[in-house]
Amino acid sequence: MEKIIDENQQGNSLVLEQNKNNNRKLYIESYGCQMNFADSEIVASILAKEGFNTTQSMEDADLVLVNTCSIRDKAEQTIRKRLEKFNAVKRINPKMKVGVLGCMAERLKDKFLEEEKIVDMVVGPDAYKDLPNLVQEIDEGREAVNVLLSKEETYGDIAPVRLNSNGVSAFVSITRGCDNMCTFCVVPFTRGRERSRDPQSILGEVNDLWSRGFKEIILLGQNVDSYLWYGGGLKKDFDKATDIQKATAVSFANLLELVAEAQPKLRIRFSTSNPQDLTVDVIHTMAAHKNICNHIHLPVQSGSDSILKAMNRLHTRAEYFELIDNIRKILPQCAISQDMITGFPTETEEDHQQTLSLMEYVKYDFGFMFAYSERPGTLAERKMEDDVPEEVKKRRLTEIINLQRKHSHYRTQQHLGKTEEVLIEGSSKKSDEHWMGRNSQNTVVVFPKEHYQVGEFVNVKILDCTTATLIGEAIGYSDNN
Ligand code: SAM
Repeated sequence: MEKIIDENQQGNSLVLEQNKNNNRKLYIESYGCQMNFADSEIVASILAKEGFNTTQSMEDADLVLVNTCSIRDKAEQTIRKRLEKFNAVKRINPKMKVGVLGCMAERLKDKFLEEEKIVDMVVGPDAYKDLPNLVQEIDEGREAVNVLLSKEETYGDIAPVRLNSNGVSAFVSITRGCDNMCTFCVVPFTRGRERSRDPQSILGEVNDLWSRGFKEIILLGQNVDSYLWYGGGLKKDFDKATDIQKATAVSFANLLELVAEAQPKLRIRFSTSNPQDLTVDVIHTMAAHKNICNHIHLPVQSGSDSILKAMNRLHTRAEYFELIDNIRKILPQCAISQDMITGFPTETEEDHQQTLSLMEYVKYDFGFMFAYSERPGTLAERKMEDDVPEEVKKRRLTEIINLQRKHSHYRTQQHLGKTEEVLIEGSSKKSDEHWMGRNSQNTVVVFPKEHYQVGEFVNVKILDCTTATLIGEAIGYSDNN
């Protein structure tokens, strides 16, 4: 098992309400991070204006799109296999066109058209507004490619159509790209430099979601804490901003406050936080607003200083502990989750023990753990030998997964006997008689349905738990309804 929590959303095809005037059919599958799922909503919104309704049946589609992920080699292999499946369908329906979107499109560019003969269109993450032209190209029998990365594009002016939505929870993108240059990571090459979205367009989207009945938003970015709006432009060019731009700049803590105050009953989550950018201001803002959820996804990747340095993570183990201590002091109920990579080049047994001891210190609520996968073009690939044998990576991965299981169980047990506010998202996967929702800490809670409805905030008494789920019974509505 590569990860402790499987992303059961992976590959979901997305459907939105049908427009009667549209007569072409779009099938879209998404892989990878939450940003990709959010981007697919932007793509569907752009194509809805071009006459496409979405379908869940690939066989019926005029256009099949796959929004791809390059983060690990395994992700790319999964997508290559899906393309084989699309190829089989194309043999039955030769008029069907296939497009590759997202990070793999950006990484491989027009090589895709040579390598995967069935692909008609290749579109990078910053080129979705060009889709109307690209679709016209393929309609006229030409191949179409646009993989230009942008300095400004944030899609702030596109109202994403909510796909496969439970009508309760929605993603809102706030930054694009990443400037961190972690040596293992392909994201800066596939998603470009970091830029932030205009806070007014974020507030507009949030207010619109609230008016349509949504009860929770997740502010998204590769590194949300690095959010900085100073009138537009790349984060790295902030130095060149005018004095007035600098004085009126909006930080992530400011943005959180703006959103929390605009809709005091809307639950607010955010992801992902990079330890080097998460400030104490953000933690204080979380503490000051009841509607900002008590959960921080705070990937550390390794517990060893020498590996953190080799990864170009710009903090030490001691600085990470200081951050954890601050979170525990200011927000004692806050859940903390991690991403971890085992077997990064040069990782010794001693480094691995440091990772285990860091985990013992934090006792994360949950985590996503991966064996290192060398990615073409990254600094690690160019400058370091992938020298940890596969079986050692796997053994270390199993050890950290087992330890995380133990900690997850320890954390879920801390909720026993408490009464917690849960936002109902839908039926439990295991029982139609039970609702599934989440508490503020992002832990899944299941409880008998009784008369409660999806989208309601309910106080649930926690009676039992597994390593990942709390089991309880509702004792009434919370005052947030
Ligand atoms: N921006 C976040 C950060 O810097 O922590 C998350 C980036 S990535 C989309 C999600 C996770 O994938 C990372 O936190 C890391 O644990 C993992 N990852 C990234 N590159 C990897 C690689 N080359 N091999 C294995 N895991 C990788």
